[in-house]
Amino acid sequence: MMVNSAVLVLNQNYEPLSVCSARRAIIMQLLGKVDVVETYDGLKVHSATRSIPLPSVVRLSWYVNVPYKRILLTRKNIIKRDRHTCQYCGDKKGMMTVDHVIPKRFRGGDTWENLVCACASCNNKKGDRPPEQAGMRLSRLPRRPNHITFIQSFIGISDERWKPYLFLD
Ligand SMILES: [Zn+2]
Repeated sequence: MMVNSAVLVLNQNYEPLSVCSARRAIIMQLLGKVDVVETYDGLKVHSATRSIPLPSVVRLSWYVNVPYKRILLTRKNIIKRDRHTCQYCGDKKGMMTVDHVIPKRFRGGDTWENLVCACASCNNKKGDRPPEQAGMRLSRLPRRPNHITFIQSFIGISDERWKPYLFLD
């Protein structure tokens, strides 16, 4: 059903906030709570009295302060954040493991900033050493997911029109 398609919700300052269903976006639009920024070309939702272009991106009419959204630090979520890609060699296939960048015996913690997705062979090669000692380099610095990475990696991109708002262009 079209009314179940995903809509990207932006804050009033165009910062990505969340994703909701088109049904919910249209209700907010009719209540004057959001402005429609992008629509799916030519697709319309019909009610008894009117037809409305199917929204793809909406923006809140006023700014909301969003409480910090906590994503659980789990093995699965680390792999998801890193898009099932080894952060050392870029491999995307096969079983992925979670590697402590700074090993526990060097007081490396269980944090978003110290855990990365690694393929089994890189994890073996690195062993119980920091990357420099193993002669390995991270392809990017691991970060705690924010709203933008949350939508990019955890929910996924439903429509090409979202990309400029998620800084993927
Ligand atoms: Zn690897």
